[in-house]
Amino acid sequence: MDYFPLFADLTDRPCLVVGGGRVASRKVRQLLRAGARITVNASSLDPVLLDMANTGKITATVGEFKPELVIDHLLIVAATSDATVNQAVAAAAAANFRLCNVVDDCEHSSFIVPAIVDREPLTVAISSGGRSPVLTTVIRQKIEGLLPARLGAVARWAEAWRDAVRARFPDLRARRHFWQTELDGAASDLILGGRTAEANRAIVRALAADPARSDRGPGIAYLVGAGPGDPGLITLAGWRLLQQADVVVHDRLVSPALLDLARRDAELITVGKTPSTASISQDEINKLLVQLVEQGNRVCRLKGGDPFVFGRGSEEAEALAAAGMPYQIVPGITAAVGCAAYAGIPLTRRGLAKAVVLITAESATGESEPDWANLAAGEHTLAIYMGVGKLNAVSRQIIAAGRSPDCPTALIENGTTDRQRIVRGTLKELPGLAKKHAVTAPALLLVGQTIALADELAWFTAPPLGTGWPSNSGVAESGKTIWTEPSDLNPGAQT
Ligand code: SAH
Repeated sequence: MDYFPLFADLTDRPCLVVGGGRVASRKVRQLLRAGARITVNASSLDPVLLDMANTGKITATVGEFKPELVIDHLLIVAATSDATVNQAVAAAAAANFRLCNVVDDCEHSSFIVPAIVDREPLTVAISSGGRSPVLTTVIRQKIEGLLPARLGAVARWAEAWRDAVRARFPDLRARRHFWQTELDGAASDLILGGRTAEANRAIVRALAADPARSDRGPGIAYLVGAGPGDPGLITLAGWRLLQQADVVVHDRLVSPALLDLARRDAELITVGKTPSTASISQDEINKLLVQLVEQGNRVCRLKGGDPFVFGRGSEEAEALAAAGMPYQIVPGITAAVGCAAYAGIPLTRRGLAKAVVLITAESATGESEPDWANLAAGEHTLAIYMGVGKLNAVSRQIIAAGRSPDCPTALIENGTTDRQRIVRGTLKELPGLAKKHAVTAPALLLVGQTIALADELAWFTAPPLGTGWPSNSGVAESGKTIWTEPSDLNPGAQT
């Protein structure tokens, strides 16, 4: 860390500003806002500073800078237009162990002033250590947009309840948990909406409730689609709810980078299922969700892709509804949509594909196979989920339904992640290619004429492994990534 960030209380503390022009008066105004007691030293003062001096807001010492001026001042700002004078100020400050900022001159400064996002009393300070003031500004603008204008009111409201909450929860951990729940959710929304009386009633209720939360009433479940792998593909709504959750119940495929967004004290429960092993049954997951919500938790059920596309989100929502538990459903980007985009394959295209059909090759025990004859016939794009283990049968059925054996296909493994691999070929060569490249789940099969467009439209190259970009399924083995072979790029080519 080049600079130690700190917030200093300057109320009534002596600060020296050297310089009498526009820059100096800007610095004086900033320091005055913090309540500092300011002396300005300059050979002459501009009208603004002169007025401040005449009205007693600052003390003026008109004349040349002398090193002894820095004594008895906590902070010094050198803001003259003369670099030699500024450096003399910095040297005098250093000799007297005072902190000094030379405006726009990091090299001679012993402190720098960050850019701020001001939500008084909440302040966000941003610094690039003097390396890129423009980057600092860009980031400041982003944070400005992120923080509601009335956030300061939330901080003041929290301050007003601080003693009461401290008395109720002497234990720091319990107190933090209480505040996180209040400030992350409904109470803070009420304050932001100007409904202070309601927020007060809500916190009184929450303070009276059992901290074990048994009498807080049911919590809520959020069935959130996490997207297919790239953590950036979660929706803003899903992201916000994930950050609020007390418990996160997630699929095995959900990116660790997304789980990092959960609260530090949130409980994470993996309910991973693989095609071959069902470590926890769907029925057990349903029961777990109901139970967690009943206990008063805000539960984020984070599911790969979209909860309602082959995600068994329906069964979970049905279980919650049957038990009378509240829930919300947040859609996600389903694998077909995500993988197609990251492979540069449009799912529909005028003249090539007027429709797209999402099919699962997997069928529950006792359930009939997909109606391939109806689903596969025609010109539309097929997106087949959970089909890696059955590629021989799938390709045979699609050909039997009337598609040409030369119809282009793309098998996308770990789509949208740093481990994305794409194997392309025709329907008839697909099973052989998949075997050759040892494609494993999760992989999505696309079938249709639009696949050829990837030659022009492919844009995403997974970064080299180990560059820190999050993988969606644990540690990637360097060197194991197999890219589409040049011959595979031509759908008609033999490999
Ligand atoms: N609800 C999920 C689908 C769950 S079924 C969704 O909407 O996407 C699991 C299947 O989805 C996998 O077998 C695979 O076919 C597909 N899938 C999910 N993530 C994938 C990914 N990153 N790349 C390729 N296929 C994926």
